[in-house]
Amino acid sequence: MLYKRSSALFQEAQKVIPGGVNSPVRAFNAVGGTPIFAKSAKGAYVYDEDGNRFIDYINSWGPMLLGHAFPPVVDAVIEKAKQGTSFGMPTAIETEIAELAVSMVPNIDKIRFVNSGTEACMSAIRLARGFTKKDKIIKFAGCYHGHSDSFLIAAGSGAITFGTPNSPGVTEGTAKDTLLARFNDLENVKELVEANKDAIAAIIIEPVAGNMGCIPPVDGFLEGLRAICDSNGILLIFDEVMTGFRLANGGVQELKNINADIVCFGKVVGGGLPVGAFAARNEIMDYLAPIGPVYQAGTLSGNPLAMAAGLAMLKTINADKGLMNRLEEKTKYLHNGIADALNKNNITHTINRIGSMISVHFSEDAVVDFDSAAKGNNETFKKFFHGMLNKGIYIAPSAFETWFITDALTYEDLNETIAAIEDIAKDL
Ligand code: PMP
Repeated sequence: MLYKRSSALFQEAQKVIPGGVNSPVRAFNAVGGTPIFAKSAKGAYVYDEDGNRFIDYINSWGPMLLGHAFPPVVDAVIEKAKQGTSFGMPTAIETEIAELAVSMVPNIDKIRFVNSGTEACMSAIRLARGFTKKDKIIKFAGCYHGHSDSFLIAAGSGAITFGTPNSPGVTEGTAKDTLLARFNDLENVKELVEANKDAIAAIIIEPVAGNMGCIPPVDGFLEGLRAICDSNGILLIFDEVMTGFRLANGGVQELKNINADIVCFGKVVGGGLPVGAFAARNEIMDYLAPIGPVYQAGTLSGNPLAMAAGLAMLKTINADKGLMNRLEEKTKYLHNGIADALNKNNITHTINRIGSMISVHFSEDAVVDFDSAAKGNNETFKKFFHGMLNKGIYIAPSAFETWFITDALTYEDLNETIAAIEDIAKDL
């Protein structure tokens, strides 16, 4: 494949945009090479500026559950735009999407819309701190909750007592309130809670992790977190930015039958426009301004175009009773195909899958947390990534990402993908 125009565009972009991209993960820093510049996308395919077509397994990092340029979403946005693009006043459609979301997701009474997953998670922890009148939070290594200061934290040498910033610009003061735990390790969480008695406002978790590849919770883990929270007055925050409206209509709360206290959304809920949301029962949500003391706001929050896209998306998901099953079947088919192709060529690997999320790790051991995800062979991944790209298959340019399966993918697309992997595996 030729990437002449993408290369030229990247050169230009780097002069006026840091690293040429508006979000670091889009650059190919982890795999080498030049990022592909997208021109358009339809259904299962994305087309670049050079006219190449790719079967897309990133799907804008999750939102495109039903495929690109899904007609009901596009039409809804166009129609709304004709009536004005933002008012800074309440609109009927905000209540309409809120009612639908509240009816689809268990255990929430009210929802507030924001503009990104970052905002949703940032606001959720402020609300949890305000509500519990405590300061510290526990997050899990390898889970991503956006780029707000409290989440850009690495385990310090005294990880039991405090974290340390993992980006310049995050203050020590902020870092001291974030404790880092190991995913799927209840004992570790218990230790942190014991060592920080009556100081922890919330435990925030991706209940199915998607940002270190896909890592489902082991049996009993989420139940254990729920119990720890209940007996210590800690709020459990499910960051369902990736999993919400994807793994079930009601997200992981529904899938695993576990109630969180606050739930964060993003990606699918916006149908590809910039939307995030957080939700909880009345008691907690009524703690928010203007009726409660915890401040949170946004000039463009509940933007009519974004709400129109999100509403069209949620309505389709809600009405299509076979959707989740279809997605899972396609993902399983792909899983089996990839495993066969890699096994035939004796390539060491582990595949994690749940619902429409799947990740391929070039590692022998079970991948259950950040440390085991980090053991994957990155050199093999790089070859795999570029091999896929050259065969017209676009996966995330990092071994720590999940592939997102969409309803637009056909079995022909999946077969083309598996055939490509069979070929690539010979040279891995
Ligand atoms: N939480 C999770 C689980 C995510 O995957 C992401 C983004 N990948 C975020 C939060 C942050 O969302 P955004 O990029 O919209 O700020």
